Amino acid sequence: MGRLIQLLPEHVANQIAAGEVIQRPSSAVKELLENAVDAGASKIDLVIKDAGKSLIQVIDNGKGMNIDDANICFQRHATSKIKSTDDLYAINTKGFRGEALASIAAIAQVELKTKTANEELGIQINIEGSEILSNEPISCPVGTNILMKNLFFNVPARRNFLKSNAVETKHIIDEFERIALAHPEVHFTMYNNDNLVFDLPNATNRQRIINIFGKKYNERLVPLEEKTSITEISGFILKPEFSKKTRGEQFFFVNDRFIKNTYLNHAVRNAYKELISKDQFPSYFIYLTVPKDSLDINIHPTKTEVKFQDDRSIYAIVLSTVKNSLGKYSISPSLDFEQESSFQVPPLKKGEAIKPPTINVNPNYNPFEKVSSKEKQEAIANSLDMIKEPSISFDQNLNETSNQTDDSQLEQNWTGLTKINHYNKIFQFQRKYIVTSLSSGIILIDQERAHHQIVFERLLQQFQDKKIETQQLAFPLQLELSNSDYELSLELLKEIKETGIDIDDFGNNTLVINGLPMGFDINECKGLIEDILENFKHNADELISNNENLAWTISKRGCIKSGRDLNVSEMDGLINELFCCDSPYFNFKGKPIIIKLENQEIDSRFEKK
Ligand code: ADP
Ligand code: MG
Repeated sequence: MGRLIQLLPEHVANQIAAGEVIQRPSSAVKELLENAVDAGASKIDLVIKDAGKSLIQVIDNGKGMNIDDANICFQRHATSKIKSTDDLYAINTKGFRGEALASIAAIAQVELKTKTANEELGIQINIEGSEILSNEPISCPVGTNILMKNLFFNVPARRNFLKSNAVETKHIIDEFERIALAHPEVHFTMYNNDNLVFDLPNATNRQRIINIFGKKYNERLVPLEEKTSITEISGFILKPEFSKKTRGEQFFFVNDRFIKNTYLNHAVRNAYKELISKDQFPSYFIYLTVPKDSLDINIHPTKTEVKFQDDRSIYAIVLSTVKNSLGKYSISPSLDFEQESSFQVPPLKKGEAIKPPTINVNPNYNPFEKVSSKEKQEAIANSLDMIKEPSISFDQNLNETSNQTDDSQLEQNWTGLTKINHYNKIFQFQRKYIVTSLSSGIILIDQERAHHQIVFERLLQQFQDKKIETQQLAFPLQLELSNSDYELSLELLKEIKETGIDIDDFGNNTLVINGLPMGFDINECKGLIEDILENFKHNADELISNNENLAWTISKRGCIKSGRDLNVSEMDGLINELFCCDSPYFNFKGKPIIIKLENQEIDSRFEKK
């Protein structure tokens, strides 16, 4: 038998290696933008078509390449940036592996035009699938203009693997923003399908952030400043009240390079600890400068992870710098999220008799019994009405209840409560839970999760039946968005429309909303679109294009929140509807909606057998 092992042909090896460097259009965008920055350009233009799947072009006015360099730049391990392993520990360029252009040429149709200041003529090279098709002198401006078409044209399996245009565009915008934030001294533009998405003239860090994320960021930013022997810190954090429920804008840069670092992220979180609730995320733009030899940027091929020589000290410095800035701008803790709220029963005045409530409740009512379909329909109709009512915000609730916690009042409340409960088998606790008893124990229902699940299941059903009812608005609403949100929403327009939101492009970063899903509160409309985009930006890979995630986001906006007072018939209605749901005990995200305390457990807590 002959030899089984053979060396792979060069173009196959290149294709395989390319898979590591270029995973999707945004990885090519990153590599090309970084090359332009490394070439010392002061102006860089990015042009995208079809989410980068059909075209990615980067034009820079950097130093360009001479004919010899242009001829070798597409070979694997061709780099002008390092010469020996020693150089690896003193890197001041973005690239150093010499793999990007070789990878791009292996999996796309590439056209390169480049010229240096010293030469009369430039050179144009066309290369596809690692094969040079043409190579000739041309006249062109100083700098580099590189254009790649039909990414993965020769690797259909990978091309099919690409996500929707909305998802791929989102990743491209992410990369663009990271590089633009790291280099405010460079003028960047970005065009997507011929629309100018960003035009960012050279600016200060602060101005760059505002140009990308919108004018409203101006008043939200709190500056950071610290200089120690191991690191210099600058940048901005966002005031705690602008923290988001999703990850928000979290950017770390080290020596002008965007990095991901969960350890340092933890340091920032720690500094905000008393100021934001557990489910919120602080936003920040933090720039660290460290000596080059104390940083290893070699640990990950896609290069967003780095290793610090002394990461514990850097953690401590980040923590104290952020804390200091929060303190300096007198942003001190004012809300205590762990605070126990008192029972929501008004204290009795001395001598006042307890009146039984006037609402009649069926004493034999058992929420675990299935309800008939007629009742089911009525209950669903009721819940539609409930969505329209305004909800009380979390903060308001805290303020209202914070002065009711002293012991004697608590005792009074407790007496009132037991007596009321004598007449009434259902009551609200902490404006958050519905409590009711059964012969086998006590059940607690989370009102927000319960209603969220009810509205979610109903919406999902409507999506599946393709019977979404839209209610037209008397006065269409206009919604102005930031550049990147507007661009993303255009990509998502079709999917958003399918949910019953009648929405259109109005031009000029503005969307117009003509109708909403039936029963949806118009005041929540702006927030809803923001939620959909936010959710999309941070879960793009899990896909919101599937109906479930969209239904989840919409129903979250529209549902009854914690903090809202419910009367007995509302609670009754809610319980009825909950038990019509396919999943009354656990919500779509697997979190419990109902908790049951069994009689046995209660007895054993009292040490009774
Ligand atoms: P690396 O950036 O890791 O060196 P690349 O494959 O990205 O590897 O690029 C190879 C070489 O091509 C670079 O080292 C640089 O000399 C040259 N090059 C690439 N893009 C540009 C550009 N836009 N302007 C000038 N030179 C460039
Ligand atoms: Mg490079």
